[in-house]
Amino acid sequence: MTQTTASTCCYCGVGCGVLIEHDGETILGVRGDPNHPANFGKLCSKGSTLHLTGDLDARGLYPELRLGKGLARSRSDWDSALDHAANVFADTIREHGPDSVAFYISGQLLTEDYYAFNKLARALVGTNNIDSNSRLCMSSAVVGYKRSLGADAPPCSYEDIEQSDCLLIAGSNMAYAHPILFRRLETAKAQRPDMKIIVVDPRRTDTCELADLHLAILPGTDVALFHGILHILLWEGWIDRRYIDAHTEGFDELKTLVRDYTPVAVADICGIPQADLLLAAEWIGKAPGFLSLWCMGLNQSSSGSAKNSALINLHLATGQIGRPGTGPFSLTGQPNAMGGRETGSLANLLPGHRDAANAGHRAEVAAHWGVERLPESTGLTAIELFEAVRDGRIKALWIACTNPAQSLPDQQKIHEALAACPFVVVQEAFFTTETCHYADLLLPAASWGEKEGTVTNSERRISHVRRAVPAPAEARPDWAITSDFARRLEQRLRPGLPSLFDFASPEALFEEYKPLTAGRDLDYSGLSYAILDTRGPQQWPFPAGATAGTPRLYGDGRFATESGRARFHADVYRAPKERRDARFPLTLNTGRLRDQWHGMSRTGTAARLFGHVEEAVLGLHPDELRRRRLQPGELARVRSRRGSLILPVQADDAVRPGQAYLPMHWGNRFLKGLGTNILTLPAFDPLSRQPELKHAGIEVERV
Ligand code: SF4
Repeated sequence: MTQTTASTCCYCGVGCGVLIEHDGETILGVRGDPNHPANFGKLCSKGSTLHLTGDLDARGLYPELRLGKGLARSRSDWDSALDHAANVFADTIREHGPDSVAFYISGQLLTEDYYAFNKLARALVGTNNIDSNSRLCMSSAVVGYKRSLGADAPPCSYEDIEQSDCLLIAGSNMAYAHPILFRRLETAKAQRPDMKIIVVDPRRTDTCELADLHLAILPGTDVALFHGILHILLWEGWIDRRYIDAHTEGFDELKTLVRDYTPVAVADICGIPQADLLLAAEWIGKAPGFLSLWCMGLNQSSSGSAKNSALINLHLATGQIGRPGTGPFSLTGQPNAMGGRETGSLANLLPGHRDAANAGHRAEVAAHWGVERLPESTGLTAIELFEAVRDGRIKALWIACTNPAQSLPDQQKIHEALAACPFVVVQEAFFTTETCHYADLLLPAASWGEKEGTVTNSERRISHVRRAVPAPAEARPDWAITSDFARRLEQRLRPGLPSLFDFASPEALFEEYKPLTAGRDLDYSGLSYAILDTRGPQQWPFPAGATAGTPRLYGDGRFATESGRARFHADVYRAPKERRDARFPLTLNTGRLRDQWHGMSRTGTAARLFGHVEEAVLGLHPDELRRRRLQPGELARVRSRRGSLILPVQADDAVRPGQAYLPMHWGNRFLKGLGTNILTLPAFDPLSRQPELKHAGIEVERV
């Protein structure tokens, strides 16, 4: 008999509610959940095909182990596999210290999975070497929120998108990357045509179809643009002096800096008409409600933190925050990057939005976990972590639910690192990813519809993710794998002591974790699985005793900084690390397709999703094709300073001359070579450590 289980979509950070139709054994279909406040029953092409993408041929069914690098893996059992891993990790830690091992996890894990990994790394192993693929996704937004507003807390709700009078969408192809939110925006624009939409993107994406103004800035010039807009707001008197005086600090320094960002100078830096710059500033300055949305175009940059703060500056200068239809609102890329940030799943964080470098924070978490202390050493972030693997400092690496052998920049070096690492564990639902190739131990994980826990979406809303069917064969939920391994490791590292990992269910992890949020900006100590089940998904903060979540932050003008004031930041515009030159005269931009997700391990198994785009093609302006005497469809060699690919090219006037566009999804299963990221560079932002995946210098040649 067909049953229905309410859960959430496992792809993007919109966090849509889904109803899984199943017979208790097999998932038969999926529908949008009409009661979920993110999507009210709607699903995009990816969400509505979830049931078609669990291809058993691609799934991991049993643990696989090899006892030497040159050997083939063979089927193992859980006890042997995890005992072997615990022996290797314990020996490595004893011989080389806790910082000789590392964990690289994922924005697609559930909050309970994250929590188990954090406790394992920091409390049991004693290392801060735990980072996540969220480092590639939202870490610049984390820095932007923390340094400007005092806490990593997006202050808005989805309904603000509908209530705004002027929206600035910067570095986000929302139509593809957050489709259901874009549908909500389309509906709002149809109902209120006076709403102004400004899209800032070097490329004319599908999101621009809805724009009243498209600012096709030159790649990476966002900081100059935002400073230029503030210059005009100041000149025209469109700032809110009363708000600035009452609720902020640092404005005078910024005011001095933006004097130099005149419309003439900024139009030149950004490569846009002055008239467009003036019009954007006028719409922002005169709008009763101004909201900004952004994503990877701002974050994946060597000046990602500065871009985030420069955009938030505009909200603080105009007092456009804390009211309906206003505020800076990052669109989270992955389904639970927010939950990862909440549980401390970046090397520099600790659970409850705490900082690993803060001794008081470490003491609070150590006390909660019942351990003497937490490690003080600085944890390695994604790019640094794989450099440490490559040069031999990391000798045992545990990777869960992510595919660094496709997603990290400068792929040649990542593959060298994985090949050289003495012991690599990969915990993964799909054994077809590039990273699995390097696993000495491959552990089959449960996937969507097969596991329980919680996720937090872009608007701080926590949903209960429910299990509909059992995982295939011997695959297990991530929290259970991690806890089981941790129990075996603690028998070796701290024998005779009570277990730190005595968890019987994901709910037990949630209950242990949630007091760590009490009194913090994200306080959800008042939530429980029972409340999520009876009252539906809730937005944090939701402290003990609350009867409802919190749709909007900072409405009282008090911020999460020590002074209670928001801080302006006066960062000088800096160009991307790799400028165009004679040898590499094109700037490569990478991004998403509408119907694919990340490395395609799920979406790549559904024929229906290839209907939109069937193969990796490099988009070039027709002038650039002519200059190289290339015909559309012809194969070309694409070279960067790090490697090359051979690909068909297409004429694409959505990109300006001097630029190129390649979808990020294609790895070496689909391309001859190491995939899109063989071309991208590992330069990163000095504060967020987020790599500059968006701007690589390339050349394209006939083959
Ligand atoms: Fe899933 Fe995102 Fe599409 Fe919603 S918008 S159905 S969360 S991929």
